[in-house]
Amino acid sequence: MKASKMIIPTLKEVPPEAIIDSHILMLRAGLIKKLVSGVYNFLPLGLRSLHKVEKIIKEEMDRSGALEILSSAMQPKELWEESGRWNKYGPELFRFKDRHNHEYCLGPTHEEIFTDLIRNMIKSYKQLPLNIYQIQTKYRDEMRPRFGLMRCREFIMKDAYSFDVDEKGLDESYKIMYDTYSKIFTRLGLNFKTVLADTGAIGGNASHQFMALSDAGESTIIYCDDCSYAADEEKAYSHAPILKKEDLKDKEEVLTVNKHSIEEISEFLNLPLYKIAKSMIYYAEDSNQYGMFIVRGDYEVNEIKVANALNSSEAFIRLASDEEILSLGSISGFIGPINFTKCKIFIDEEVTKMTNFVVGANKKDYHFINVNYEKDFNGIIGDYKKAKEGDLCPVCGKPLKSERGIEVGQVFKLGTKYSLAMDCTFLDQQGKILPMMMGCYGIGVTRTFQAIIEQHHDEYGIIFPLQVAPYHIVIVPVNYDDEEQHRVSNQLYEMLNCKVETILDDRKMKIGFKMKDWELIGIPYIVVVGRRALENIVELKNRNDNSKIELTLDEVKEFIIDKVNNLK
Ligand code: ATP
Ligand code: MG
Repeated sequence: MKASKMIIPTLKEVPPEAIIDSHILMLRAGLIKKLVSGVYNFLPLGLRSLHKVEKIIKEEMDRSGALEILSSAMQPKELWEESGRWNKYGPELFRFKDRHNHEYCLGPTHEEIFTDLIRNMIKSYKQLPLNIYQIQTKYRDEMRPRFGLMRCREFIMKDAYSFDVDEKGLDESYKIMYDTYSKIFTRLGLNFKTVLADTGAIGGNASHQFMALSDAGESTIIYCDDCSYAADEEKAYSHAPILKKEDLKDKEEVLTVNKHSIEEISEFLNLPLYKIAKSMIYYAEDSNQYGMFIVRGDYEVNEIKVANALNSSEAFIRLASDEEILSLGSISGFIGPINFTKCKIFIDEEVTKMTNFVVGANKKDYHFINVNYEKDFNGIIGDYKKAKEGDLCPVCGKPLKSERGIEVGQVFKLGTKYSLAMDCTFLDQQGKILPMMMGCYGIGVTRTFQAIIEQHHDEYGIIFPLQVAPYHIVIVPVNYDDEEQHRVSNQLYEMLNCKVETILDDRKMKIGFKMKDWELIGIPYIVVVGRRALENIVELKNRNDNSKIELTLDEVKEFIIDKVNNLK
C-alpha cells in the first residue's frame, strides 16, 4: 500500500476529551473517530488491526469446537419478557418501537436470542453439547460512556453460549472456554490475570473475569501472592486483620451534636474507625425493599453485595433518602440497628468480631457507645464489605494485594436460569424432558483492542505487537525525490509487498514528519532508506525497543518474512 493513497489523519495535539493514554493515542494515530458520546467510527488503520484481533479470537473459538453464527442486534420484547429481563435490565437497555407499535431492544447481550434459537432446533441429548458464538455489535446505554472504546454505548463483543445435558457437561464446556480465553489473551500479547467474579445482570452461579493489568483499568483486582486467590473487588471476600477482643461493657447513649460522619464521630469520641460501625440504609427499586447494612467503620459497603442481598441488581439500588430514613424511624447521620425494626438488618461478619463499639441511636444528635452484637442487636450475618489491600486472604490467611485491571472478558456458568424460564429442553436417553445446562462467555473485542494499546505504548506512540499491527512494515525514504532512494524504496516494496503487509511512504513530506507518524501509529518495523541507498543498504528500526540496524535489502526481506511466518 502506498501511503499517498491512505487516510492517515494523525493529530499532533492531545484531543481534549481523552484522558487515558490508549484513548489519546487511538485518536492521535487516526485509528478511530468519535461520532457521538460512546459511539465511534473505525478508520482504515484501526479497522485492519481490529480485524486481526477478531481473527485470533475466531481461530481459537473455532479450534475449541464452537460454531460461529451471526444474529441480529434487534431483539423482540417478547423474548426478554420470557426470561424476565425486560423489566429487570434497567435503563441500560435501548428500547424502541416499530411502526406497528411492537417493542424491541438493541441487544446488550444475547442469552434470550441464543436460547430461543437452540430450543427451536435441538431436541435430543444426541445433538448436545453445543457451543455457539458470534462476533457482533452490542448496545448498552451506559450512564457514563468513557475512555474511548473502554466503555461505549455501541461496541463489538464476541459472545458464546454453551448447551449441555448436565452439570458435568457444563463444567467441561466452561473449562474449555476458560482455557480458550487464556490462549486468546496470550496470543494477543496481553498481560492478564483471571479472577473470580460476580455474576451481575447476566445471572448464574459461577463466573470468572479476564483482566488486562493496567492502572487505566476501571476494575480493582484483589489477589494473593502466596496462593492463587484472585477476585474482582465486586466479588472479593477477605478477612479484616484481627482485632483484640475486650470484656463486654454495657451500652450507653451519648450526645454527639452535629457529628454525622464516621470521621467526625471518631474524632469527637477519640476512637479509631474500627471501633465504630457504619450503618447505611439502601433501597432496591425492583424488589421494593429497604435494607440496613452495617460494616466496620474502616470499610466501605460493597454495593454489589447489597444488591445480591436485596435480590436486586446494581442498577436498581440506591441509598435511602433523608425522608425515607425518617419514615423508617431513623435519622440520617445517626442510623443504627438498636431498636430498629422497619426493615431487615444485614450485618457484615467483621462487625460480629468487634467489641464495645459505636452505632447511631436513631435519634438526632445521639449515638450508642459500648455496643455489642447479639447482646444489643441481631440481624442477617453475611459478607457486605469491600475487600481491600492488607486484608487477609480467605484461602491462606496471608495479606492480600490489589491492582487495577481492564475487564476484557468474562465467563459464566448460567445453569438452567434461561433454559427453565424459556423452556429450552431436550429428551435424555430415557426419554425424559430436561432443561439444558447453559454457560455464556463474552470478550469485549473493541475494549480488548484498546487494552492492547494501553499495555503497548511509549512516549512516541503505539507499539503494536506484530500479530495485531495494521501493517507489518513501512518503508520510509528520507527523500523520495532522490533518484537512488526512489529506486531502492520501490525495489524493496516490490520484494516485500504481497509477502508481508507493507506500506511505502511515498508522501512528499519531511522525514521527521513521516517518522513521527509511523512511530505514533506503531508499525512494528520501519525501514529508513537514506544516504546508503547507493550501496543498497537501509536502516531497520524496531519500534519495540527503538533499536536500529543497517541491513541489505535481502536481509530486510529475510528478517521480516521470518518474523511474520513465526506468527502462524
Ligand atoms: P462492565 O462491568 O465493564 O460494565 P460487564 O461485566 O457488564 O462489563 P459483560 O456483560 O460481561 O460486561 O460483557 C462481556 C465483555 O464485554 C466485558 O468483559 C467487556 O470486555 C465488554 N464490555 C462490556 N460493556 C462494555 C462497554 N460498555 N463498552 C465496551 N466493552 C464492554
Ligand atoms: Mg463482565
